[in-house]
Amino acid sequence: MPDYFEEGTLVGVLTAEPLDRVLDYKAPEGGCWMGAFVVVPLGPRKVIGIIWGPGRGDWDPAKVRQVAKVLDVAPMRAEMRAFLTRAGAYTLTPMSAMLRLATRAPGLADPPSMKKLYRLGMEAPDRMTDARTRVLAVLEEYGGLAFTQKELAEMAGTSASVIKGLVAQGAVEEVDTPRDAPYLPLDLDRPGKPLTESQAAAVAPLVAGIGDGTYGTTLLKGVTGSGKTEVYLEAVAECLRQGRQALVLLPEIALTSEFLTRVKARFGAEPAEWHSGVTMTERRRCWRMVGQGAAELVVGARSALYLPFRDLGLIVVDEEHDTSYKQEDGALYSARDMAVLRASLNDAQVVLASATPSLESWWNAESGKYARVDLADRFGAAVMPEMRAIDMRAEDLPGNRWVSPTLQAAVRARLARGEQSLLFLNRRGYAPVTLCRACGEQVGCDHCDARMVEHRFQKRLMCHQCGETKPMPEACPSCGVAGKMAAVGPGVERLAEEVEALFPEARMAVLSSDLFGSARALKARIAEIAEGETDIIIGTQLVAKGHNFPRLTLVGVIDADLGLQGSDLRAAERTFQLMRQVAGRAGRAEVPGVALLQSFQPEHPVIRAILSGDEEGFWRAEADERRATGMPPFGRLAGIVVSSPDAAQAFDLANHLARSDAPITAIGGTVYGPAPAPIARIRGRHRVRLLVKAPRGAPIQGALRDWVGGLKLPGALRLSVDIDPQSFY
Ligand code: ADP
Ligand code: ZN
Repeated sequence: MPDYFEEGTLVGVLTAEPLDRVLDYKAPEGGCWMGAFVVVPLGPRKVIGIIWGPGRGDWDPAKVRQVAKVLDVAPMRAEMRAFLTRAGAYTLTPMSAMLRLATRAPGLADPPSMKKLYRLGMEAPDRMTDARTRVLAVLEEYGGLAFTQKELAEMAGTSASVIKGLVAQGAVEEVDTPRDAPYLPLDLDRPGKPLTESQAAAVAPLVAGIGDGTYGTTLLKGVTGSGKTEVYLEAVAECLRQGRQALVLLPEIALTSEFLTRVKARFGAEPAEWHSGVTMTERRRCWRMVGQGAAELVVGARSALYLPFRDLGLIVVDEEHDTSYKQEDGALYSARDMAVLRASLNDAQVVLASATPSLESWWNAESGKYARVDLADRFGAAVMPEMRAIDMRAEDLPGNRWVSPTLQAAVRARLARGEQSLLFLNRRGYAPVTLCRACGEQVGCDHCDARMVEHRFQKRLMCHQCGETKPMPEACPSCGVAGKMAAVGPGVERLAEEVEALFPEARMAVLSSDLFGSARALKARIAEIAEGETDIIIGTQLVAKGHNFPRLTLVGVIDADLGLQGSDLRAAERTFQLMRQVAGRAGRAEVPGVALLQSFQPEHPVIRAILSGDEEGFWRAEADERRATGMPPFGRLAGIVVSSPDAAQAFDLANHLARSDAPITAIGGTVYGPAPAPIARIRGRHRVRLLVKAPRGAPIQGALRDWVGGLKLPGALRLSVDIDPQSFY
């Protein structure tokens, strides 16, 4: 394929518009490179696109228009184009949507923007005033440094007009500088922490892989606190020494600040950041600097995978089992799998770090597809907490109370010793069900098939599907009887109420994502807790992820059975991971920790596996079961959801698909359903599911394309395909 197109030759331009083809244009004056970011006219509008190849020449030549402009950003590299193409084909996402993922930077079409900075000039001013003296004194104090007008005026305590006056006289010099500054280089010569023997043994193969400059994926398994971060930071250092870039993906924005601090301590400067909490200006800077190679290390959320790295040599996926890596972003993809794909296309290394790997990654290591290194022990004196079940059938606990006497005694002992306790309940809000005691009616969402959850802090009922809220009704919406509405079951807010009554003298913090206005507020709270400002932490899933609470020695799981209900394929795996992650919060420093799991079925195999800590045994048993039933990773799944405001319309299409399943049976696959989805209505749309199961290695994407690809969907009907679905809602 040509690399360069002369002015006037036909080029194919991929745009982010929802069209299913690459459009023909004439190369602009001066020609353009393959992969160049361009602006093209489309109807009456101008849109951004990428030179994707030669034009097809199947349009009336008289109507082919010319590329309007080539943007001043580095052309998209062949590796990135291949990545988008392959990722789109794998997830059955149209290329326009893939391009949207790769161009999520504000102001891409703008020329590189400049800003004016001010520094000391050569001339002396004609006369001095107090204000002028202060300005010059500030500039002299900071030597050669330049400041914005605002900064300088603030530091000198003057107005902008004083600075302008000095500029006019040449005493202060005005310089144009690019607004997007490169990130400070990381100092790779700083010594890291001296590694333990097992940490050094884990680093060696990672460093060797990076030195080879070849593709490879390594599962880095180690209990929380074993030093996985230390180990992969060494791999990052090696990658940067090779002159290549590195990307660290974290599952949760709240974890970034701790990571930034550690990078700064290790390398003397902070990495670039890419996630939803970053300002537009910083996003633009990050996107551009990554493309110019002026950002060596990026820490980010899953969408950072689509940044235009000049030479990406290492991707770390921390907490690789985390479900937030698989989410809807306009495209349904697993960031973990896409990281492996991107690395394989650029001779890069991948590190998947976790204390509780996903079954898929565990199996990939087991079968030799991935390498595996283990960190068996916690760093220093810290040991994994002792884990015990509290058999709730034997506890004397009134209804509407959830902290058993055994757990209460354990918390009391921590309070007496000045240690922290964490009570874990994976349920936001006050109570999951609001019920009328007169007629039995449960308050549901008007738009979804979900119960409304009471949030007492906000004094409202909320639907956790669509976010709709309404005030707590005085009278039952169904029978009209007043004063009979009752909360049923616990959420973290209600648990907090109980704990407050039990331990009125304790300082308590509730960590639940909906209780914080911003990621920053949450970060600040977590930092306070880590410093020991809190005696009892009450938290949802949020606390399970990687935060360091050094004084925490007790974890109480309020309802260990919660995740075991439901028919989800991954229910056992998720419960196992979550319980071990949460338990891992206890005893990170010198004092050993205890994790107590309240359960009504302590003899359940999953609870037993959690308690015994026999991880390999648990995975082997899970793997055997999945193998026997042909479930992933031993078979392949795709979830289809058909939705419409009209239930009959959704069912009609789903039934039609189920009847015309020839493309699926042709590859040895089976179509299950249709059936109403577990959440049968979301935001007023009725949802019908089909499940496709195919043998491992079957060309499922091609079959799906033949099956649903050509469908013309009438009206409000929608169809989504989820390859390798993680959840079945
Ligand atoms: P993980 O990522 O596995 O949870 P971390 O890398 O966060 O583990 O390590 C846990 C704690 O132990 C951190 O505070 C870390 O700084 C410390 N630590 C780990 N390894 C070392 C080491 N070799 N020397 C000094 N401190 C270490
Ligand atoms: Zn709803």
